[in-house]
Amino acid sequence: MEHRSETLCLSGKDLQVSLEAASGRLRLSRCGCAWEWDREAAPHFFTVTGERLLFSQALKTACGCRETGLGGELFCRYEGFPGEEAIGFETRLWLEEATGRLHLEWLPLAGAERIARVLWPAPMAFGEARRDWQTVLPLRQGLLIPNDWPVPLGRLPFGGRFGTADAYLPWFGQIRPEGGYLLLCDTPANAGYEVSRSEEGPARVGVWLEPSLGAMTPRRFRYLFFGPCTYNDLCKAYRGIVREEGRLVTLEEKAVRLPAVKKLAGCSFLHKSVKTHVDPESRFFDPQNPGKNDHLTPFAAHAAHVRELYAAGSGPLYVHVDGWAQAGYDNCHPDATAVCAEAGGPEGLRELIGAVHEGGGLLGLHDQYRDFYHHAPSYDPDLACQNPDGTLPGHAMWAGGPQNYLCTTQAQRFLRRNLALLDQAGVHPDCSYLDVFTCNEGDECANPRHRMTRAESYRLRCGCFSYLASRGILSSSEEVNDWAAADQIFCHYAPYEFMMNRPGTPQPGLPVPLYNLVYHDCVIQPWMMEKTAESDYMLYALLNAGAPYLERDPAYPNIDGAFGGGDELTLDEKIRRCRTVAWLQEETVFSEMVLHEFIGGDPSRQRTMFANGVEVRVDLERRAWQILRDGVAVDSGGPDGEGGEV
Ligand SMILES: [Zn+2]
Repeated sequence: MEHRSETLCLSGKDLQVSLEAASGRLRLSRCGCAWEWDREAAPHFFTVTGERLLFSQALKTACGCRETGLGGELFCRYEGFPGEEAIGFETRLWLEEATGRLHLEWLPLAGAERIARVLWPAPMAFGEARRDWQTVLPLRQGLLIPNDWPVPLGRLPFGGRFGTADAYLPWFGQIRPEGGYLLLCDTPANAGYEVSRSEEGPARVGVWLEPSLGAMTPRRFRYLFFGPCTYNDLCKAYRGIVREEGRLVTLEEKAVRLPAVKKLAGCSFLHKSVKTHVDPESRFFDPQNPGKNDHLTPFAAHAAHVRELYAAGSGPLYVHVDGWAQAGYDNCHPDATAVCAEAGGPEGLRELIGAVHEGGGLLGLHDQYRDFYHHAPSYDPDLACQNPDGTLPGHAMWAGGPQNYLCTTQAQRFLRRNLALLDQAGVHPDCSYLDVFTCNEGDECANPRHRMTRAESYRLRCGCFSYLASRGILSSSEEVNDWAAADQIFCHYAPYEFMMNRPGTPQPGLPVPLYNLVYHDCVIQPWMMEKTAESDYMLYALLNAGAPYLERDPAYPNIDGAFGGGDELTLDEKIRRCRTVAWLQEETVFSEMVLHEFIGGDPSRQRTMFANGVEVRVDLERRAWQILRDGVAVDSGGPDGEGGEV
């Protein structure tokens, strides 16, 4: 059956779908709430030579509808394009009657290696500059952009790529008073979201798809539609899907295999550095100040400091140690094989672990299996990620100088070797931090000896977390992500986007804890605790019921949200604040975050609720906070001389 310039329709219990066959444009209506793809952003793609082609430019289009055992289906085949006769692909839209979800599939038929980028599914028209029209983005912990918000969203570091810090979750959504939708990417490894938005203009959010190892592959999405709703409903619907797929693994479940999870939950966090060495080829090398390029704090000094903190009443500490290996921080990975001798060697590190254990704490070592340094004794270009054209991606940004990327197929082998060597040296860390895995994109490798797709790279990273678990070691990584949530125990941080900018920078929207609404009880997340003239980050730590940072010595200045200055708290005040946050974390670590809201619609007053009846209220303007259980206040704090009622 063939149609051209025609509209095809599907109809479910609540949902009506119509597709403009030639252009591929979609219109939907659920219980009277209508959605349609923006006319200005018709489905299109780019060829490898940079040509932009609309779906509607296909030389041959064949479309039809059919009933399957699952529900109605619309399919459209687009074959041959001007100057690109070999390209052909198909889209399939099918309505799953059992769930009311609309599935979308993009399937290559021919010439898949000629396509560089596909812009599909297209953005919804979302044209009214109103406060109650809102875009929900998975950027870091989560961002809500009202359609009249005055500050545009800047360039995103990973281009909106799913699986990275730009998207802790593989979906986005939009909400109007009559209803909302969530667009979930079921094949997120080579895709991302793209937002176009000017000042005080409506947000247009679409999806980009890129080839995998040089060719386009099948891609799948799901639309979930809602009646009147908030971002809470979107997060809870997604949590339901994660559970359906068997990917929801709670900390309570993780603690059955790794009892130390319960110990970590009450800790205040310390981030400490032992040896720094900056290679002359690194971007951070400072020829004017040689003292900045090399310094050392012995293990014994850290052990003495930990004992001081315990004596001062810090409560249990989690101590993260950077630069513990011979070559120094961010040097010679994956060869963190020997403990830094001049810092005290294995004996010094054992002594530090002992000091941390004295107060009931845990110690974790920084490690790295992605950055592959040329100075590493194990460096071999044949183990590095290879582009399809045979070149090796690389740079010389970090302290260790020139690097490529270790193919993730090799990562666990080096991890096993390094842990075996530490074992032989009598060093048994409680935790291991595998840097960048949950912040940076998964890698691709075209080396025929260990070819790997990006999706496989993510699975192999999870394999490293699982290996640590098999050794009784708690796994940590830089940030958090949907693909890692079943395996990762904790992270360095999972901040709101604004925390990565200098305090006082205008915000591109309102911070909302989307990741925590899905995964609060699955991954432990420490929060910054800085108090500056502009804000008190403790309020966000409480709101999210995360772990507190007591001290955070940054690895590099002015990045990773470490800007220094403005913090005039005494040690006693810092400890008191951390103990409150650590207590709340311990109370709620196994509890789902069931709700976040702006109290009375006021962004400066917020509250979260947890499944065990705990409620946290904060007032960002008054800098007050209140913790309640089953509606009864149990603790509060506020500015001098005032109460903490919110
Ligand atoms: Zn490889």
